[in-house]
Amino acid sequence: MRYTLITFLACPACSGQLATIVVTERQAAIPVRHRLLPNVVAPEGAVVAPLNPASARTPLGAVLSRHAANPAPPERDYAVEVETGILACVSCGRWFPIRGFLPELLPDHLRDRDDDRRFFDECARQLPTELVEALRAAAPSAGSTELDRGEGYKRAEITIRSKVDNPYFFSPGYSSPFNPHATEHTLYLIKLFGAAVPLLELKVGDVLLDSGCGYSWTTEWLYRAGVETVGVDICRTYLEIGIERMGANRPHLVVADVENLPIRAASMDAVLAFESAHHIPDRKKAMAGFGRVLKPAGRMVLAEPGATHEHAQVSVDVMSKYGILEKGMELEDVRDYVAGTEMGKPEQIFLLRASDREIGRTIDHAFVHTHSAVEGNLFRISKTESLLETVSAAWREPRRVVWPKLKRYAKTALVRLGLE
Ligand SMILES: [Zn+2]
Repeated sequence: MRYTLITFLACPACSGQLATIVVTERQAAIPVRHRLLPNVVAPEGAVVAPLNPASARTPLGAVLSRHAANPAPPERDYAVEVETGILACVSCGRWFPIRGFLPELLPDHLRDRDDDRRFFDECARQLPTELVEALRAAAPSAGSTELDRGEGYKRAEITIRSKVDNPYFFSPGYSSPFNPHATEHTLYLIKLFGAAVPLLELKVGDVLLDSGCGYSWTTEWLYRAGVETVGVDICRTYLEIGIERMGANRPHLVVADVENLPIRAASMDAVLAFESAHHIPDRKKAMAGFGRVLKPAGRMVLAEPGATHEHAQVSVDVMSKYGILEKGMELEDVRDYVAGTEMGKPEQIFLLRASDREIGRTIDHAFVHTHSAVEGNLFRISKTESLLETVSAAWREPRRVVWPKLKRYAKTALVRLGLE
């Protein structure tokens, strides 16, 4: 985990501010990127990374602040990574592990309590006693008892490694998206990516959440294109394989449940769900979370299989063998997921392949069905933004940023009024 990831993270239980506690760091030099670097990088040997002075308001926050280092030159973020450590919530006192370079920000009911306790005890041996005692005292004694009907599916994903007997099951992850043994599928993935990404209207410096990123190749490609990407997945195994493939020069990755996003409100310019939202059990809850983390007028794209997906033999096999949810979606379903959230009306986007002989033909449902250039469904949704927010942004932001937003706002308003 690079230090600057903290500026996008929040406690998955209470959305409070997190403090980075360092147990081990590793040299992990990467090329300098074009982005604004916040003053959150710890100097060598620090125990707690620089902390916002306002965090000292809680007892744990006060202890963390006493141990917090002064900021190191922010460029140090390009030189090192936190390998092992703890993320502590200044507000509710929960702590979360950073192990094997990956922060794990799961909700209480999906955590492995025994494993976490062992991890904490090992870290404690290398941390100041006052800090360890403050962390122990602040941690809530009982976890949240929220009912999660999708828990079984989520546990199936978390523990996928223990269910797999085929030694080649994870092989594609080491070269993802390229799989020379599955040429058609490889080309399908690249084609779908090419169709989905332009809909996000990304520009340099944008921050994107890659929801359910799996082996993280979509996160990787966008990162390499200059987008600041944060990939989240509930399954640690997939992210670990992604790290092995990419090495140090890779996007931010976080183990998390997308129904309980550990991401700061209004911190993302865009959200991508690439062949992943059809595994989410509670899509209304996930969509409410995407609405929360997107900036006003932020964009989301879903590239997902259609409603017949769960009947395909491969899906039936995955569900019965591994217990993972496979449920595709149509436009009507997506309308239902966003209802009551901060997300606007979804649009389904069609990418069509037509020859010169077909110019002049009517684009109706039948034409779309027979001329689709991509399998699967593409949906685009914008976070709703009031006219007041758009106009007030005009005073704060340069014109090149505001005009596209105003145009998008006008378009969304026309679509909502049924005029387009
Ligand atoms: Zn918290």
